[in-house]
Amino acid sequence: MFYVEQKGFLQNKKGKTAMDSERINTILKEVIKEAQDLKIPVPKNVNGKITINPRPKKRFGCCKLKDREFHIEISEFVLATDEKKIRGIIAHEILHACKGCQNHGVRWKEYAEKMNARYDYNIKRVSSFQEVGLEAEQEKTSADKIKYIIKCQKCGREYPRQRFTCVMKKINAYRCQCGGKLTLIRK
Ligand SMILES: [Zn+2]
Ligand SMILES: [Zn+2]
Repeated sequence: MFYVEQKGFLQNKKGKTAMDSERINTILKEVIKEAQDLKIPVPKNVNGKITINPRPKKRFGCCKLKDREFHIEISEFVLATDEKKIRGIIAHEILHACKGCQNHGVRWKEYAEKMNARYDYNIKRVSSFQEVGLEAEQEKTSADKIKYIIKCQKCGREYPRQRFTCVMKKINAYRCQCGGKLTLIRK
């Protein structure tokens, strides 16, 4: 079991995680089958167990050749997103095991497009965190960096900001989403 949120690094939009290693290995098999059904030549020597790596914070997965077998690795934080997107990430890595696909060259792209067209994946050379349904911790603003809060006088909603912005200069010219007037609070 993986509790990505407990580490405070990432969580999906719905705030839930769950995907055990058995399920992930089943998905691996299924996605290999999907590729083979499209006549994509996935080699036989793909290790049947996906490695879940808790360390990477940015990459989603990788495909390594070790002891004559391809090993698919998925970063643990990825498990926080939904299954369809996890499948797409696994598919991305499986394609790297195919001959002439170690990079994101023409052949890899051709296979990726086939998979996308047939199974509605969104396999790309590089996907953003947002595209795979994850929110990057770095993009969140940590509480100690907040220098200003724009607060709505009507609904009480707070808009934390790290820097002084032009909205703050002319705060009376702006309104909250609810239509309420705004107040600037310095921390
Ligand atoms: Zn890749
Ligand atoms: Zn408001």
